[in-house]
Amino acid sequence: MTIAIQGIGVSSGIRTAIGKVLMLSRGSIQAEPGMVPASEVEAEVQRFFDAVQTAAKQLTEIRKEIPADTPPDILEFIDTHLLMLQDKAIAEAPAQTIRDEGCSAEWALQLRRDQLLRVFEDMEDAYLRTRKDDLDHVVNRIMAILQGEGRKEPVEIAGHIMVSEDLTPADIITLHHKGASGFITDFGSPMSHTAILAASLGIPAVVGAHGASSHLHSGELVILDAANGTVLADCASESIRFFEQRLHRERERRNALQTLRDTPAVTRDGERIELQANIELPEDVEEVRNQGGDGIGLYRTEFLYMNRDQLPTEDEHYLAYRQVIEGMDGRPVTIRTLDLGADKQCEHQPEPAACINPALGLRAIRLCLKETDIFRVQIRAILRASAHGSVRLMIPMLTNLWEARQAREIIDMEMHSLGEQRIAMDETLPIGAMIETPAAALTADAFAQMFDFLSIGTNDLIQYTLAVDRADDSVNHLYDPLHPAVLKLIRYILEAGRRCRKPVAMCGEMAGDPRYTPLLLGLGLRTLSMHPASLPEVKQLIRKLDLEQLTERVDKLLRDPSAYDLAGPVEALAD
Ligand code: PEP
Ligand code: MG
Repeated sequence: MTIAIQGIGVSSGIRTAIGKVLMLSRGSIQAEPGMVPASEVEAEVQRFFDAVQTAAKQLTEIRKEIPADTPPDILEFIDTHLLMLQDKAIAEAPAQTIRDEGCSAEWALQLRRDQLLRVFEDMEDAYLRTRKDDLDHVVNRIMAILQGEGRKEPVEIAGHIMVSEDLTPADIITLHHKGASGFITDFGSPMSHTAILAASLGIPAVVGAHGASSHLHSGELVILDAANGTVLADCASESIRFFEQRLHRERERRNALQTLRDTPAVTRDGERIELQANIELPEDVEEVRNQGGDGIGLYRTEFLYMNRDQLPTEDEHYLAYRQVIEGMDGRPVTIRTLDLGADKQCEHQPEPAACINPALGLRAIRLCLKETDIFRVQIRAILRASAHGSVRLMIPMLTNLWEARQAREIIDMEMHSLGEQRIAMDETLPIGAMIETPAAALTADAFAQMFDFLSIGTNDLIQYTLAVDRADDSVNHLYDPLHPAVLKLIRYILEAGRRCRKPVAMCGEMAGDPRYTPLLLGLGLRTLSMHPASLPEVKQLIRKLDLEQLTERVDKLLRDPSAYDLAGPVEALAD
C-alpha cells in the first residue's frame, strides 16, 4: 500500500524527483559512558585532538568544493563551524575532562555538549538558538569520527533522494555536487536556509515532512512531489509510471519554454504584461536574465543580514545592490527595505525573537522605525545605488499611514544628507508601498496617494486576512488565495490604484502561479513579480489569453455575491 507523507514542497522549475532513498543520520549522536585506564588517559586525549583535527579537515575540504558563485552567507556558515572547532570550549575542555575523570573521549565530549546546550537553552534568543544547532552539527562531526564512522557519506549519491531529520546548507552543497536528485527532511520550513539553497540550486525538496526519516528506509524507491509537498513510498507501478511521465514532461516543457526567453509577454489582444522576478541574493540575477525577466519586482534584502555576526555595512549593502542593478542592465530593480521578523529571523535582531506572536510583532517596517539606525544605513545604500540604474524603493508591512510618513521622512532626510555631501543618486527614484495587511488594503487610496506605486504582497495579505500563519503547516489547508475576502481586497487595492493613477503590481507567490494568471489579468494587474523559474510558464499562458474577454468574465464572476467556491470558475478562465 502506498505511504504518503505530507510536507512542504520547495522547488524552482522541476518539481518531481523519483529515486532510491539514502538515509542520512543527522540527529545528535549519543555516546555511552566509558572509562579508560589511567595509563591510557593521554592516548585518549590525543585521540580526541586527532578527531577535532580530522573534523576541521573535512570541513575545509567541503569549503573548497563550494563553487565560486555560492552566496557568501553560506560560506560564513561553514566558517562558523570551523571557528567553533578552534574554540577552547569544544576543542580543549573535553581533554581536561578526560584527564580529570578518566573517561572516554566520546563521553567527555557528550558531557561538554550537554553542558553547553543547557546554557543555550536557558537563553531563549534566536541567535543563540541557531548557535545551538551549529554546536550540535560540530559535536556530531567529532563524535562520528571518534566512533569510527568518519561521517562517510554513502558512496553512491548520484540520482538518490536524500532523507534526513534535518540538513545543513553545507550538506546540501556537498550532496548537490555528488548528484543528489532531491531532499526530504523531517523538519524545516521553506524559509530555512537549507530550503532556500535547495530551491536556488534547482533541486526539488520536501521539508517539514514529519516522520519521513523514521518511515522511509535506504534503498526504497520514493516519489518526491514538490508541487504538492508530498512524498510517496511503496508506490504501485502505475503511480511510478505516472510520475516518470510527469517528470519527462516537466523537462521537455522547460526546454521548450526557453525559446520564449526574449519574447515579450503580450496577450492575444495586444496588451503587454510586465513579468518581473523576485530575488533573494545578487547571484539570482543570472537566473532572472536566463529566464527573460523584465526587471526585479521584489529584492528581498533581509538575506544580507543572515548568518553573520555583524550587521552589514552601508558599503556591503551598496555593493550588493549595485551588483543587482548592473546585472539587470537598465531594467528596473525594486529593492525592498528590511523585512525581518516573523519567520525570518537573524542573529542580531535587536528585540528578543521569541516574542509572543512574531507574525504580529515587531516585523519589517515596524522594526525599522524602532531601530532607525539600521534602517538609515540601508536607505543610504539604496539611494547611492540608485545612481547606477533604474531603482525603486519599496517598504513592506505597512498598516498605518503614519508609519509611511515616518519612513518617508527618514528617506527624505537621508536624501538631503547625501545631496549635501554631493553623493550621486536618483533623486526621483520611485518609492512604493507593499500592501500586505488588510488594514493597508482597505485604506489603499491613502497609500496610493502618498506613494509612487503599490505592490500587493499576497503571502502576507492572505495570512493576515484569513488568520492563518503562513509558516505553520498544520493550518496550511486554510491558506486560500481564492477566498472571496482575499479577492475583494485585491480588487479594492487595484481600484484604489486606478482612482489615484498609480501603478499596482503583485509580488506574492500568487503572482507566479499560472492557475491564477487569468484571474489576476482579468482583475486588472499588468505587472507580476515571481520566482525566476516561474517566468516562462506564466509568459506562455499570457500569450494565449484575451484580456478584454477575461476582464468581462472576471468582473461577472466577482460581482456575483453568492460566488464563494471559486477554484473551479477560476480554473475555467484559462479556457
Ligand atoms: C508577500 O508577503 O507576499 C511578500 C512578497 O513578501 P514576503 O513573502 O517576503 O513576506
Ligand atoms: Mg510579505
